[in-house]
Amino acid sequence: MLDTSIEFLKGVGPKRGDLLKSELGIYTCDDLLNYYPFRYIDRSSFHPSNHLNADMPYAQLKGKIIGVKLVGSPRQQRLTAKFEDKYGSIDLVWFQGARYIKPTLEEGGEYIVFGKPSLFNNRFTITHPELSKLSEENPLGALKLQPVYSSGEKLSGRGLNSKGIEKLVRTLLPQVLDLIGETLSAELVKKLNLISRKAAIRQIHFPESGEALQAALFRLKFEEFFFLQLQLLRTQINHRKTYGGFVFEQVGDHFNDFFTNHLPFELTEAQKRVVKEIRKDLGTGNHMNRLLQGDVGSGKTVVALLTMLLAKDNGFQATLMAPTEILAQQHFESLSQLLKHTGLNIALLTGSVKAAARKPIFAGILSGEIDFLVGTHALLEDKVQFKNLGLSVIDEQHRFGVAQRAQLWKKNICPPHVLVMTATPIPRTLAMTFYGDLDVSVIDELPPGRKAIKTLHKKDSSRLNVFAFMRSEIAKGRQIYVVYPLIKESETLDYKDLMDGYESVSRAFPLPNYQIAIVHGKMKPADKEFEMNRFISGKAQILVSTTVIEVGVNVPNASVMVIESAERFGLSQLHQLRGRVGRGADQSYCLLMTGNKVSSEGKKRMEIMVRTTDGFEIAEEDLRLRGPGDIMGTQQSGILDLKLADLAHDQQILILARDAARMVLESDPDLARPSNLRILTEYKNQARRRPNWSRIS
Ligand code: ADP
Ligand code: MG
Repeated sequence: MLDTSIEFLKGVGPKRGDLLKSELGIYTCDDLLNYYPFRYIDRSSFHPSNHLNADMPYAQLKGKIIGVKLVGSPRQQRLTAKFEDKYGSIDLVWFQGARYIKPTLEEGGEYIVFGKPSLFNNRFTITHPELSKLSEENPLGALKLQPVYSSGEKLSGRGLNSKGIEKLVRTLLPQVLDLIGETLSAELVKKLNLISRKAAIRQIHFPESGEALQAALFRLKFEEFFFLQLQLLRTQINHRKTYGGFVFEQVGDHFNDFFTNHLPFELTEAQKRVVKEIRKDLGTGNHMNRLLQGDVGSGKTVVALLTMLLAKDNGFQATLMAPTEILAQQHFESLSQLLKHTGLNIALLTGSVKAAARKPIFAGILSGEIDFLVGTHALLEDKVQFKNLGLSVIDEQHRFGVAQRAQLWKKNICPPHVLVMTATPIPRTLAMTFYGDLDVSVIDELPPGRKAIKTLHKKDSSRLNVFAFMRSEIAKGRQIYVVYPLIKESETLDYKDLMDGYESVSRAFPLPNYQIAIVHGKMKPADKEFEMNRFISGKAQILVSTTVIEVGVNVPNASVMVIESAERFGLSQLHQLRGRVGRGADQSYCLLMTGNKVSSEGKKRMEIMVRTTDGFEIAEEDLRLRGPGDIMGTQQSGILDLKLADLAHDQQILILARDAARMVLESDPDLARPSNLRILTEYKNQARRRPNWSRIS
């Protein structure tokens, strides 16, 4: 019955069946069963007729229908009635189907009426109300939370509005109720105090009470998360089983010497914790596949370096890969600086390293003379052969595709350990799903002594003040970023904005006192680099750019970030941009420029940015405002297509589900025990339906 094609359900038929398939993706009775209401109307409480107002989205009254009459000419006939409760009366009106509706109304009968009240000739009127007649078969007690199903014009045209769909579910449910099987083990159901799947499905369509609905939602959301986590965790376990990792057992001389003699500062508690987590991974013989999250400036580089030293101590080489030449260059310089007195050998390989200079590098990594290789994706080329690569650190993973990461694996007989670092804080729930098959470490603390960046929201009308402020900061020797949005859909307009902006900045900051660099995506890479270097070297005081500077650039002397049309950026992007400043000893500022009029949503975003510099808090807000798909910039993996559960609001349930999945797999990794048979069956069913999720090396 559950697999029966939907047109065979009583009340459907071929035409409606086709619509249900094309509009809602409901092909079978089972699909209909899993088509849940998206909200409910509480039909257990009533508004008194003397307490209505025209702003109410709907009102619900209980009373009697009296004075039913047809009015107007036969061609423009309407039906009116009076509806009377203890407190007064309102009018009901039907413009359509008047003649058919009239005989169904019982004068003096008791009804519940439901609809949007509006004021008409100073009386409240409900047009085309929904009516339920109260009778012995339909007593008041039977009306609780009424489900509302999303429908559409085409469907409604064929009688499949919310009510119509509700009716189909009411037909189906009693026929199949006993076929709805349990998908979780008895142990889990008991331990987590869940209601049965059967009860949950019934209650989600027709809840007997608010509590029953909550219990149903909890059960179904849990289940949704549980099977997702089960899949992710199994991927992780299989991965570990398939690929043993090099064991970095020893903490040896290089690590210890650096730690005691060359580390220029004390690690923060968060850094210490993360290094410990990494060491645990590396010591076990598992292959490490770890995501390191830490806000801009939280000190990820030194964690990477310590990990690389562990590799060295155990006889392995390591790489550090960055998405751009400039970033690779900066990493190379800062690592060289830190390793200056250690005798370790570090090299840089990027696309612009000339053939002649490459030869000794290739030879050095093949012979093992070079310990650490820093670079761009040039590292991935086949010509780059290591003596014994044991670890690859990847900075800013967003720019690297899966295929590229996979190439790293071919660099040794056994895949090197992978540490992916990102400065984009990802809300915990997202990390647990999107990166659920990776281990995640978080640096959630900034090194001490940083001055918090001051963020201000400024309107276009105060531009002259902003320019004056910029001048005073430049006079103190500081540098300034001015960033314009660049959004694909309006690219031409955006470039115009950028060029207009550049002109206006150039007028306000004229040569010879001021130099302005400009960088945008339409420039040739060489020109871009030239302009960028004018700014990095301090020759230019102002850098006007689109968001190309978003990733990684480090100019500690730049202390002011001006973001133009800030209302057009997402929160995470604003946060990334702001992270470009606040890297030196000086007080830094971020000025969010918006038009004089800002939408309430835009205003909210500005307020959040002004209020906090905590990247994780901002990421959580972003998740609430934009939803998970937009944040990760992807929906195609299918992994974020949750039906009921919501990553912004159901964190607790997700954590429970992940723990439960872990517990099940710990005692029964292949789900082979009879007590887990139901779980295995459902797991296989879902695996058949879902696309392959494994995206990460
Ligand atoms: P990110 O996480 O953005 O890559 P970096 O690793 O570039 O951050 O570190 C930012 C700055 O903070 C660097 O100048 C680094 O030397 C410094 N730093 C890192 N850790 C600490 C620490 N524990 N104490 C003081 N300064 C630190
Ligand atoms: Mg960094």
